[in-house]
Amino acid sequence: MERPHSPPVIDRIRQRLPLLRSTGLWRERRMLDGPQGTVVNIDGREVINFSSNDYLGLANHPKLQEALAAGAKHYGVGSGASQLVCGYSDAHRCLEEKLCHHTGRDRALLFSSGYLANQAMVAALAGKSDQVIGDRLNHASLIDAALLSRARYRRYPHADVMALERMLETTGQQTLVTTDAVFSMDGDIAPLPAIVNACRQHNAMLAVDDAHGFAVLGERGGGTLEHFHLSQTEVPLLMATFGKALGTFGAFVAGDATLIEYLLQSARSLIYTTAPPPALVFATSAAIDLLQSESWRRQKLQHNIELFRRGAAEQGLALQSSVTAIQPLIVHDPGRAVTISNKLLEQGLLVAAIRPPTVPRDTSRLRIVLSAAHTETHITLLLDRLAEAL
Ligand SMILES: *Cc1c(COP(=O)(O)O)cnc(C)c1O
Repeated sequence: MERPHSPPVIDRIRQRLPLLRSTGLWRERRMLDGPQGTVVNIDGREVINFSSNDYLGLANHPKLQEALAAGAKHYGVGSGASQLVCGYSDAHRCLEEKLCHHTGRDRALLFSSGYLANQAMVAALAGKSDQVIGDRLNHASLIDAALLSRARYRRYPHADVMALERMLETTGQQTLVTTDAVFSMDGDIAPLPAIVNACRQHNAMLAVDDAHGFAVLGERGGGTLEHFHLSQTEVPLLMATFGKALGTFGAFVAGDATLIEYLLQSARSLIYTTAPPPALVFATSAAIDLLQSESWRRQKLQHNIELFRRGAAEQGLALQSSVTAIQPLIVHDPGRAVTISNKLLEQGLLVAAIRPPTVPRDTSRLRIVLSAAHTETHITLLLDRLAEAL
């Protein structure tokens, strides 16, 4: 007689799914049609997008479209293999050189995503007998990277350098400190100069994830490290992504030549994964050129951030301290965050509700993201709708 095949894990999953629904934590994908931008098409309707990390409005820039198409003509579509087999091209090398120049670092190495780049960066600097100390609000990819490295992982309260120092004092182990430079769900900037000092005093290593600062902050768009004038000696390894302000896809780690060579020799998330497609790498090179030739985009973004914050203060909205493009409005309850987000969508505004486990319990929020491509009309409309909805 045949027994139904039902391993216990299936029961566990069947119990968990309804729980997600009843606690307001159910996640759904919204389906877009057409290009990324400040106005996107959802279900045949145009809505104004305040959710995208396309901070400079480059994701659909004609020059990037052209570069991607030209890259595909020249290199084809697939990269064929890992960088260490035959997936590395002159497009990859050219982008690495541009990144070195742009960040003032010795060497740069490309990765297929920021998630993978963080794995490589942390694994290179911390192993089983070491410890990693990270900000409590670090991005999930930095946390996962620490867990995968098998080092001991400890967290300090958000942006609390005194607490970090106390942790650094009470350890005999070799330590790697990791932090987001701009916190992805809060938009605030890490106190990097103080963190650099703490690491120096306790002879700890520091690695920084600048996914949300790169191309946006700093006079030349060099990111948060340029903003604070922090050199490679002060921050030996820097990770940043191309999928946010640069409008493409992929990531890099840049820093000291010896460390980067070690990453190339040892990083499993580079060695055992297919290289980024050269056409895409070519498009990212074009995006770096645009950073230099269209610096007005950074100024326009800054202007839009100030416009939003001024308007929000006038409306009495409970703004956080962020001075970047990420402007969260904390509504606490996950169900309420979703209800407001849905209501805004009905009115033609796409604003993401962010809930646990992406953010700590009781801090569910609307994550409003501004772009250089938003107009004053877009922002005024957002402020009016928010005032009604909250
Ligand atoms: C988006 C993001 C990543 C991951 O980058 P991907 O290229 O999307 O994998 C890593 N760190 C931070 C802070 C991010 O926001």
